[in-house]
Amino acid sequence: MKVTIVYDNCLEKRGLRTGWGFSSLIEVGNAPPLLFDTGADGATLLYNMKQLDIEPKQIGTIVISHAHGDHTGGLSDILEINKHAEIYVPASTVARLPERKVIMVSQPIQISEAVFSTGELEGIEQSLAIKTSKGILVVAGCSHPGVGTILDAASRYGKVYGIIGGLHGFRDFSRLEGLSMICPCHCTQHKSELKRLFPEQYVACGAGHELGLL
Ligand SMILES: [Zn+2]
Ligand SMILES: [Zn+2]
Repeated sequence: MKVTIVYDNCLEKRGLRTGWGFSSLIEVGNAPPLLFDTGADGATLLYNMKQLDIEPKQIGTIVISHAHGDHTGGLSDILEINKHAEIYVPASTVARLPERKVIMVSQPIQISEAVFSTGELEGIEQSLAIKTSKGILVVAGCSHPGVGTILDAASRYGKVYGIIGGLHGFRDFSRLEGLSMICPCHCTQHKSELKRLFPEQYVACGAGHELGLL
């Protein structure tokens, strides 16, 4: 499996654009790619996809972590190109939704063979739990429900191996003990403390970053 950061505040690969927001592409086995969040701006999202050789039409599933503009802003541009992807949004989303199959997620739900949603947590946000040979990889948008709450919810699918995504103002650092990989992206405020406390586990995030796990 592979996670590619398509949209982020920081840069990891020359030639891509940065912007406040988050989007990542998740590829597991032969399943059609899944897009988790869409950044703040469709033009930046599509530009980075092109640079990364990601074909928007091939995306089979789009999961929106939560209804904040820095995660939903590119959705309408993608949907103009991709007419078939299934869309998963948190049940509390009140924005006008496209006229196609939209799954309103409240409870934990299986999305594909190896990809699960934590369900909507704290009435705002869902995260992904992906089964890998090393354990569960959590992919989070902003972590508004709290990283601890997300890790607890993801643990129902197995032992959590690592987390990638926006960790917002999270500073309850002991909750990350035992993880093998910590890749803080997007809105994470305390990256330098995380790097200092978890030097072995810390992985720098940015647009173009590719995380490969079996
Ligand atoms: Zn947010
Ligand atoms: Zn955000």
